[in-house]
Amino acid sequence: MYAEVIVDVAAYPIDRPFDYLVPEQYRELIESGSRVKVPFGNRQVLGFVTALKSETDVPTDKQKPIGELLDIEPVLTQEMLEMTKWLKRHTLCYEIDALQVMLPSALRAKYEKILGIVDHNVDLPQSVQALFQQREHVELKVDESKELLSLIKKLVKEDILSLETSIKQKTAVKKVRMIHIESDLERLKTVYDSISNQAKKQKDVVKWMMDHPGERIVSADLLKQLSTTNAVLQAVIEKGAATLQMEEIYRDPYADRTMDKTTKLALTNEQHLALSEIIDSYDKQEAKTFLLHGITGSGKTEVYLQAIERALLDDLEAIVLVPEISLTPQMTNRFKERFGSLVAVLHSGLSTGEKYDEWRKIKRGEVKVVVGARSAIFAPFQNVGIIILDEEHEGTYKQDDSPRYHARDVAIWRSEYHNCPVILGSATPSLESYARAKKGNYTLLTLANRPKEQALPEVSVVDMREQLKNGNRSMFSLELAEAINVRLDKQEQMVLFLNRRGHSSFVLCRDCGTVVECPNCDISMTYHRHQEKIKCHYCGEESQVPHTCPECSSEHIRFFGTGTQKVEEEIARLFPAARVLRMDVDTTRKKGSHEHILKLFGEGKADILLGTQMIAKGLDFPNITLVGVLSADTTLHLADFRAAEKTFQLLTQVSGRAGRHDKAGEVIVQTYTPEHYAIQFAQHHDFVPFYNQEMMNRKQFLYPPFTYVVLIQITHEDVLMTAEYAHKAANWLRDNLTDQSEIIGPTASSISRLQNRYRYQCLIKYKKEPTLPEVLQQLTRMYRTDWMKKGILMSIDLNPSSIM
Ligand code: ADP
Ligand code: ZN
Ligand code: ZN
Repeated sequence: MYAEVIVDVAAYPIDRPFDYLVPEQYRELIESGSRVKVPFGNRQVLGFVTALKSETDVPTDKQKPIGELLDIEPVLTQEMLEMTKWLKRHTLCYEIDALQVMLPSALRAKYEKILGIVDHNVDLPQSVQALFQQREHVELKVDESKELLSLIKKLVKEDILSLETSIKQKTAVKKVRMIHIESDLERLKTVYDSISNQAKKQKDVVKWMMDHPGERIVSADLLKQLSTTNAVLQAVIEKGAATLQMEEIYRDPYADRTMDKTTKLALTNEQHLALSEIIDSYDKQEAKTFLLHGITGSGKTEVYLQAIERALLDDLEAIVLVPEISLTPQMTNRFKERFGSLVAVLHSGLSTGEKYDEWRKIKRGEVKVVVGARSAIFAPFQNVGIIILDEEHEGTYKQDDSPRYHARDVAIWRSEYHNCPVILGSATPSLESYARAKKGNYTLLTLANRPKEQALPEVSVVDMREQLKNGNRSMFSLELAEAINVRLDKQEQMVLFLNRRGHSSFVLCRDCGTVVECPNCDISMTYHRHQEKIKCHYCGEESQVPHTCPECSSEHIRFFGTGTQKVEEEIARLFPAARVLRMDVDTTRKKGSHEHILKLFGEGKADILLGTQMIAKGLDFPNITLVGVLSADTTLHLADFRAAEKTFQLLTQVSGRAGRHDKAGEVIVQTYTPEHYAIQFAQHHDFVPFYNQEMMNRKQFLYPPFTYVVLIQITHEDVLMTAEYAHKAANWLRDNLTDQSEIIGPTASSISRLQNRYRYQCLIKYKKEPTLPEVLQQLTRMYRTDWMKKGILMSIDLNPSSIM
């Protein structure tokens, strides 16, 4: 018997399974999806069994046996193994990357296998008892006899024993001393009577136990509650009033919070209509994708909750994705509140051990709903009934490293595997999704109103060019400053949003609002600080930074970018009484700091919440009556064809933070380009007209969704090497792709050097390109077998979320 094994060897040129001989003692145990240790070169490496077979092409003298079988229960399901193949093809990644991305990091690290007794009422076979020797848990060596291992496997399947892979060091399965109180009241009474009156403390403990027969309580809690000592407790245990067992508990990151189960709301007509379409397709077991387009605060979440409830009735499972979970604690809590302990929350703030615990609960079916960021799409459920992506337009759903997958694609793949619906929800759907919905590939559901008919906030746009003309050089317009003062007087809260993104900056005239654009591409040029140049990342055009505005000859032209810290200082100067909380990358490095800041704000400990992109989502506080956007332009002029779309989405999302409850909300947007359609349509909350306008632009310049885009990035420590190989790649593509594809570049990337590596990129734009998969495969092969040895790193990103 042979196993096909994908080995964990990074960047090995040949990405294929290797055949290993399965040693006699593993033959009945090994399954696809199990992890193994195998010899590779002169060391032992981790590998995944992807298939078992009875023959191999490897000659007998070259065959190597598997070193160790790490799992008796496979960690990867059949579904995951199939998904791996698809991911590999779909994202051009190494198979090992696709396998690893589905597992919690704990399973990629050091391991030990712990066997435990679950059911104490079953008499264990002699050989198993010998293994335990009265202990509750033992480490299981897979080199035990074949018979014993088979027996254990059977007992694990029957839930009589448990088998866990646990991580050595600090993430080991957490255990507590649990007291099981005798359930037979008569026996307790006998113990009580047998204790002499001198041992009053022991008598007190047993007396208390007589009020709680059959219950379990953590030893430490009992000691505390009865103010007694361990010696006393030991004494009554010895007399038979209770037993002590070491029990495994999960680290619960939500342990110190109380959750009430909330009842479902009576749906509005629109919600009801949307839900019934979803449930209808659910009942028919269709793999159908819905786009739920609902304005901010229209009650999309309530629709998700009730759709999930339907799946739970059938004992099926639900996966809910949110863009960035630590930023949306309020959203997460609503799921916890509704479904209580059936919910597992996977997020980046959890420790390795906590994540592993949540993953195990999912794998064992102890929870039914998973809420998490992108990678939660791989939750190892086996009976998925519904999948939800909230804020489906968010860029965080696309992974930037290998495997470069989009959670939406994985969701749809899984829905086809399980024949269940997917709901993509957003107030500002991505152009791609909305276009698919209009073509009928997705089913469009619309929520055009808020449940209690609260009006959307009034949005006013302030022209910052006028402010400058009138002598106001501050980053606060008179209108915004006035509105802030009013709120401070009334003790209402506000959110100030600084639209800021990465390293990118553009050159803007503060007098007329002109942004320097590429003459060929209708896209803003990117400022490169090192060379004092501006460049176009689409066609490579470059020029000197102008000292005067090309439109109005003003000298007030400069590159743009402001930090939150600077804004905070300005607030302190202009509004000395204001209490400010700042939320940006600097103030949120520590685990839990997002939640902490939001909690303080919710408790009214500050008047102003100042922040970047991260405060645009999910905030829902009744006392927020003003949202100020300090600079709407920053995303507008990104060197990316999605610039307008991202700006529209952001403005709509931030506006949605104001006036969600009884108090009316106001939004003030400051901009140097008030006439831009993204700002105009966001001002009037007009998604569909924005969509139509933006689609016209995309069509004219042939950008997605009218075409597909592939981004190829080449990096090297030497700039000449980088350029040389970028040209090689581009030329090779030009020679091998049909003329249906357009190849743009190579050009230097926006961030032209990162961690001492120079970066070049080229873009493939195509509508239909039948040769593409094969051509990219060949390019990859060339890269892995040859270029890589020269220190080149190449990445291929199909449908990149950004092309900067
Ligand atoms: P969205 O997810 O679309 O932004 P939410 O689901 O957060 O909207 O709903 C906004 C507010 O409206 C919430 O406070 C929610 O409790 C409330 N809400 C939602 N549906 C209903 C309903 N059918 N009846 C009354 N209130 C509702
Ligand atoms: Zn100008
Ligand atoms: Zn250009």
